[in-house]
Amino acid sequence: MTDPNCIFCKVLAHEIPAEFLWEDEDGTAAFMDINPWTRGHALVIPRNHSTDLLEISDEDLAASAKGAKRLAQMQKDRLGCDGVNLLNSCGAAGWQTVFHFHIHSIPRYVGDPLQLPTRPQPATPEELASVAAELRG
Ligand code: AMP
Ligand code: ZN
Repeated sequence: MTDPNCIFCKVLAHEIPAEFLWEDEDGTAAFMDINPWTRGHALVIPRNHSTDLLEISDEDLAASAKGAKRLAQMQKDRLGCDGVNLLNSCGAAGWQTVFHFHIHSIPRYVGDPLQLPTRPQPATPEELASVAAELRG
């Protein structure tokens, strides 16, 4: 349930300092991200160690999703943000840098400078149909 080499397990064990918002709600904890993308950026994590989205139990995932909603509500009610982005990174190729499942809750403010480096490109119906068929298997 814990990994001695995991930064977030160390946060949970108070071996590394963190600014907690809660420490145990439905088996989750929430704390401030040390490198916030916007004011109030925080993380929700399950207390049980699991590396990522593909490994976490359905129960811990559901509790984490519920926690992310609670966090978003706190950010809206108490910080007055105008919107929220939830983000989960899965795998190094998906930008994951800490391998203990977590959901970022990033408050958004009208006019804030945050931009994701996405470059959406329209796909043809044939391309969409082809990849959907591959996904359906
Ligand atoms: P990701 O890159 O999606 O795996 O997210 C990891 C996040 O954890 C990053 O936004 C880091 O800023 C944050 N982070 C890393 N170490 C700590 C820590 N000790 N306390 C709080 N946040 C951390
Ligand atoms: Zn861990």
